[in-house]
Amino acid sequence: MLKKKTHKTVCSYCGVGCGILVDVDSKGKIEVDGDPDYPSNKGMLCSKGRNLNYVAQDTSDRIMHPQMRWSRNHPLEKVTWDTAFERAAAVFKSIIAKHGPDSVGFYVSGQCLTEEYYLVNKITKGFIGTNNVDTNSRLCMSSAVVGYKKTLGEDSVPISYEDIELADCFLIAGANPAWCHPILYRRLEQHKEDNPNVKIIVVDPRITQTCASADLHLQILPGTDVILFNAIARWLIEKKKIDKSFIKKHTSNFNACKESAFTLSLRQAAEKCGVPVADIRKAAQYIGDANKFISMWTMGLNQSVIGVSKNVALLNISLLTGQIGKPGCGPFSLTGQPNAMGGREVGGMANLLAAHKDLGNPQHRKEVSDFWGGKEINSEPGYTATEMFNALESGKMKAIWVICTNPVVSMPNANKIEKALKNAAFVVVQDISHNSETTKFADLVLPAAGWLEKDGTMTNSERRISYLPKVIDAPGEALPDVEILWRFAQAMGYEGFDYKNAAEVYDEHCLLTKGTNIDITGLSHERLKNEGSFQWPVPHKTHPGTPRLFTDLNFPTNDNKAHFNAPKSLYNKSEETDIDFPLILNTGRVRDQWHTRTKTGKVKRLLTHVPQPYLEMNKVDAFLRKLKEGDIAVIKSRRGEVQVKVKINFDIRERVVFLPMHWGKVLNNDFGRANNLTSDLIDPISKEPDFKYCAVQVEKF
Ligand code: SF4
Repeated sequence: MLKKKTHKTVCSYCGVGCGILVDVDSKGKIEVDGDPDYPSNKGMLCSKGRNLNYVAQDTSDRIMHPQMRWSRNHPLEKVTWDTAFERAAAVFKSIIAKHGPDSVGFYVSGQCLTEEYYLVNKITKGFIGTNNVDTNSRLCMSSAVVGYKKTLGEDSVPISYEDIELADCFLIAGANPAWCHPILYRRLEQHKEDNPNVKIIVVDPRITQTCASADLHLQILPGTDVILFNAIARWLIEKKKIDKSFIKKHTSNFNACKESAFTLSLRQAAEKCGVPVADIRKAAQYIGDANKFISMWTMGLNQSVIGVSKNVALLNISLLTGQIGKPGCGPFSLTGQPNAMGGREVGGMANLLAAHKDLGNPQHRKEVSDFWGGKEINSEPGYTATEMFNALESGKMKAIWVICTNPVVSMPNANKIEKALKNAAFVVVQDISHNSETTKFADLVLPAAGWLEKDGTMTNSERRISYLPKVIDAPGEALPDVEILWRFAQAMGYEGFDYKNAAEVYDEHCLLTKGTNIDITGLSHERLKNEGSFQWPVPHKTHPGTPRLFTDLNFPTNDNKAHFNAPKSLYNKSEETDIDFPLILNTGRVRDQWHTRTKTGKVKRLLTHVPQPYLEMNKVDAFLRKLKEGDIAVIKSRRGEVQVKVKINFDIRERVVFLPMHWGKVLNNDFGRANNLTSDLIDPISKEPDFKYCAVQVEKF
């Protein structure tokens, strides 16, 4: 029998962040299983996590060595790491000298480890002198971040997964956790099975797998979420199902919330949402009668031009009912990416500062720049995700460094992203796989180490920080992202980047959090290795971590109270449908694929669930277009088109269609890139793009 060594790590896919046991035998064969001792998943894994061994062992698509081209007319050719760093530093220095620091930027990923995020933020804000660092988390959670800050005074998920088993009512809005956060959903499903009186309300324009456990499904018209949440708030206030004492002592701005909630009658709201008024009353009654209420939401609320309004309207319900700061209740945003909160902790976005400090606060900026010993930090937010590519297209930005993400497939209005990258003077792509279509636009391709090939930390959706060890060697000349970043900083001549390992980067990040609301000075790689995961804050070396926030009902706002908000927009302000584009396109995930499929697309058994992109369409809309199940349809928007097979049912509302977001051009389908169609309209506050509402027409091919 071959000798095996077992390592504890965390899944590299969704924000649930399940613990995984990795066995490596003496011949290098890898097996994975759920970690029964890890609190978030208790040994369970979904299909994606369970097949991670195939991804880790298949190196057929891996980028093995740095590649560079001297001009766009030349092919990429193999170079040494030294040449790659020299060229990157020379081009960045020359562009910055000629056009200023805001002419360059970094676009990174929620799949990066916290240490990587920390360094890219330090290089950009602290040394280059621009805040042009943004991430694909902008496409995921930025509306929730603003909602939390406006309501609770801090970007934080207040609850733990263990609160699921304590609650008796759930409102799941704009989310399909059965497919997208499967292990959390398993916990919820089991809880409902054990306690049939638990109520689950699902809000979604589609009947999804999550509806299988629902007591009530509100199949609202896309974009009407604020109207629905306000109607629920109105009913709670009218029926006196609110926690008056909590509202009086621990909140402010109740009247503004009430005024907003009373803008429409329940009947008017029901008509606008396209659901029976009795169902709105029933949902409100479930919430009003609950002892412990949890709201769960994700991209259906966040990815909207009114994403912040949707978030604050939902958060108002937790405040009205006083359902926060106690076991078994609270708002719970479900995060899409594995390092759900780590990037936000280090301030790795264009409008954030490290350690949850405030970019707009001169004292905070000084504290961070003094700590780093670099330049004064610019007070103006940098370009956010879509703004960054607009700036490349217009020529305001000249160079971009893309790390661990594939914007050519994942960004809205993808044809525009291609144009922007073609227009850039210099594109660096740091990734693990040639399957990322973005590498085709690169002047410099840097091979990065992947999951199990480097060490560092991630924070999942319940603020749980875990250490991910290096288990195997990276193929070819691939290096850990953290090392690529510090060697680039050294090549730029910056001081303070002479790290020897990721642990030193982590120690620096922890120190910067001292005295903040996310203080983790009690953590280190060593402690995480020896004692397992911790939920922040962890302010000293014997601190056990913090399962719940705001238990003293003191909120980090100017008056120590939670703030009700009156949602600025009741109505969706996405593009209008018309006679040419009469249908509303909604995009999203399928169960067994992940992001742009650079990893899951390699695993044969994950292709059996949904092998190809498809358009889900109501039978009535299909009939009107003479479309039958399996026909190829052409879907057109004002920006582009795709061609996919149609899947016809009554699970989706009339005049709404759904297309999965995973497919691009590289992996076996040239025509299914959903983001050919989507619009790059963004929420004006969170700058999160609206992937959930664009006007399209569908025709038979
Ligand atoms: Fe990985 Fe998410 Fe599945 Fe857990 S639920 S195994 S974190 S993909």
